[in-house]
Amino acid sequence: MTETASTTPSGKEPIKASELDPKFKYELLKIHGSEKILKCFQCGTCTSDCPVARYSDSYRPRTLIHMAQLGLKDRVLKSDTLWLCAACFTCTDRCPQDVEVAAVIRVFRNLAAENRCVPQVFKDQTASLLESGYAFKIPELRVKKRESQCLPPLPKGNPEKVKKVLKGVKFVETIQKPAEVKTNEQ
Ligand code: SF4
Ligand code: SF4
Repeated sequence: MTETASTTPSGKEPIKASELDPKFKYELLKIHGSEKILKCFQCGTCTSDCPVARYSDSYRPRTLIHMAQLGLKDRVLKSDTLWLCAACFTCTDRCPQDVEVAAVIRVFRNLAAENRCVPQVFKDQTASLLESGYAFKIPELRVKKRESQCLPPLPKGNPEKVKKVLKGVKFVETIQKPAEVKTNEQ
C-alpha cells in the first residue's frame, strides 16, 4: 500500500499511514479522565489559556489531543512536551466542550509510563530519590555554605520510606525499562 504523506497537526513532520493506530481513540474513551476526548472540536481555548503554553514554543494541549484523535499514539506517548503540563486545570475549567483536558494529559502520561516512555530527567530524579530521599542531590558545597552562614542543617532524606512507596506502585520497574512503543523508523 502506498503511504500517505500528510503533515502533523503542528505541520512539522510528515505522517506515515503506518503510524496511525485507529483503535487508540477508542482505548482512550474507556479510561477514566479521557472519556470525552472525541468531543474536542479543536477550538484552541485550552492552548490559548494554558500558562505553560504561554512560555513554551512546543507545548500545545490542543495539538496533543488532535494527535490522539488521529491515532498518532506513539508520537503522543513519546512527546517530551507531555511532561510540561503543570496540572493547573485552567484548560479543564475553560473547555467549551467539557473535555477534561488536564485529566487527558494525565492519562497520556500514565500510558507513556506504562510503555516505558519516561524522560531521562525523571529517571535521574528517581535514582536520586532512592539514594538520598531527595529528588535532587544537594551539593556538599551548599551544605557547607549553610553551615558557614549559621543556617540550620537540612532535614535528612529518608530513602527507605521512599523505596517502600515506590515499590508499592511498581514505579521503579515501570520507568527503568527501555521504551516499548514503536519508533518512527519502525
Ligand atoms: S478547549 Fe476543549 S474543545 Fe477546545 S481545543 Fe481544547 S479540548 Fe478541544
Ligand atoms: S492543566 Fe496543564 S494543559 Fe491545562 S492549562 Fe494547566 S498546564 Fe496547561
